[in-house]
Amino acid sequence: MKHIVAMGGAEYAKLGAPNNTGTRIVSVSGHVKRPGYYEVEVGKVTLGELINDPAFGGGLRDGRTLKAVIPGGSSAKVFKAGEKFKLKRKGADGQMTAVEVDLLDLPYDFDSLAQAGSMSGSGAIIVMDDSTDIVEALANIAEFYAQESCGQCTPCREGSLWMAKALHRLTHGQGRKQDADYLLNIAQNVQGRTICAFGEACAWPVLSFVKKFKDEFEAKGAADEEHRAKGAGPTSEMELAASPRY
Ligand code: SF4
Repeated sequence: MKHIVAMGGAEYAKLGAPNNTGTRIVSVSGHVKRPGYYEVEVGKVTLGELINDPAFGGGLRDGRTLKAVIPGGSSAKVFKAGEKFKLKRKGADGQMTAVEVDLLDLPYDFDSLAQAGSMSGSGAIIVMDDSTDIVEALANIAEFYAQESCGQCTPCREGSLWMAKALHRLTHGQGRKQDADYLLNIAQNVQGRTICAFGEACAWPVLSFVKKFKDEFEAKGAADEEHRAKGAGPTSEMELAASPRY
């Protein structure tokens, strides 16, 4: 805002990248050395620079490696370390062409993140290193959305709660291997079937976390089943109900 007043709209619009003009204040949080708010020209820095450059996030703490990053607030679809994307770019001949881009080389702008299957959303970049329990991370997000649903439409009201309950089970010793598919099924039946965009906001994290880290969700559910088969851990819904959330 300050820059628009000082520079005038036309000059301000020259900042940034084509179709993604101006500046944006983004936050970088999670397992980085320098969490904080940074104002950047849209599309002039990459996701990797925002995480690793000393002027921004400063890199991961304690020599850890990247596991995942949420690029635009908790409702944005998560990226998995090492992912590559096909972005549409105008070639020298003026024709649109597909260019392969690594996750860390993704320009931080609206169009690039959308083409990579997520969004820049609120501009809140959440960085997770290899110490992250991805099931716990999603359980935390899902609980927030279950609390925030206003309850007006059934898919969101019930679906957000069912997803949070399934994730609570998975993080309290009562998981099942098929919970991964169960979660995907619920999320697919929430997105696109609600009055406001909150339906997508609660479904997209589940869809992306479970699809991209399905092995971890299934392993956790299978380990719980094995544990219970040996007579350990909560064995009934009543015992689970005694744990903090449900
Ligand atoms: S989708 Fe929106 S309107 Fe519907 S229950 Fe959820 S928050 Fe309420």
